[in-house]
Amino acid sequence: MSEPISNDERLLAALEAALDRYDERVEVPFSASPSFRVVPNDDFRAHVFPLGDGLGIDVSSGAAVQIIEAWHKALTLSAELPEHRQIQLLGRPEHAADMSLRWLMQHELNHFAIGHFKITGSAGISDAGPPVVFDVASRRTQPCIDIKALPQEEQDMVSPCLELQTDQDATEIVLGAYAAENWPLYRYYATCILPVMFILEREDQQYEERSRTHPMAATRLYQLLAYLTELPYIPAYKLAHHEGLEHIPDAYLPSAEEIDGYREAILEPVFASSQIFAEAVGIPDAWDKLGGAEDFFADIENVLTNGHQPSKAFRTDGAKQWAELKPLNDRLLQMIRDA
Ligand SMILES: [Zn+2]
Repeated sequence: MSEPISNDERLLAALEAALDRYDERVEVPFSASPSFRVVPNDDFRAHVFPLGDGLGIDVSSGAAVQIIEAWHKALTLSAELPEHRQIQLLGRPEHAADMSLRWLMQHELNHFAIGHFKITGSAGISDAGPPVVFDVASRRTQPCIDIKALPQEEQDMVSPCLELQTDQDATEIVLGAYAAENWPLYRYYATCILPVMFILEREDQQYEERSRTHPMAATRLYQLLAYLTELPYIPAYKLAHHEGLEHIPDAYLPSAEEIDGYREAILEPVFASSQIFAEAVGIPDAWDKLGGAEDFFADIENVLTNGHQPSKAFRTDGAKQWAELKPLNDRLLQMIRDA
């Protein structure tokens, strides 16, 4: 038997695993070696900031404790449910908590990889904990994109845009490319992301200002489940794009049976598990904001069929917020590329 590892060691191991996963999945390897500190604090804190040409990541020891606790509570709640509604793991509960920590670290790494410090300057980004203000940027690392040039209404939307884009990139890296034999992995990895999203929401609720600066858990979950829904179609999109086709031939697409099986094996269990985690984390109301399965999945079908539309075209709060942020996020990504 090996010695049980400390939470500090678990956080470091999660960061190292996240870096390995990044290098495995992204064509260009991660370009810096993060300076990592575990801050002794029972609260959930995560802060990523520029350090020279690289980055620093401060995560509190409480982040590990709270993720482990959320898993413990969720699995206790799950065990009381009928078997078909229980959370299914692929290993020990400790492994599931480690996967949650790896997604959190992947999220922090991707703020840097996307280039978000060009917007935030040296203040960096606080994912949980007291809000940081972009203005405190030192002379050395002034933001090179001045968001003050945007209308006030858009300035207020910048921070949630950064969060959603970072969630998306982290999730793509963690889930990996689609293959039919990987269904259990997608379900497992996506389930491991859920406690982090709900804990971040719970932490946000402690800081009034954050309700404006971070997206709702409902929005983060909408984006996650929409991506999961789209995942089996992505190889067909890529093949058609590679061949210069404007329309995707039916022969490239997964069969209706495959899609039905995939949805039953992955989307339904992940959505059901999200309710368990909301309760485990102590914010069942945040799950109610998802708007119920029917409207939630109708909004996903809507965006996959019709693409981006104004927020009024959607039924649920999460999809509406996503729709409001998407056009600005696309512009911000272009501004980052051009800076
Ligand atoms: Zn973040």
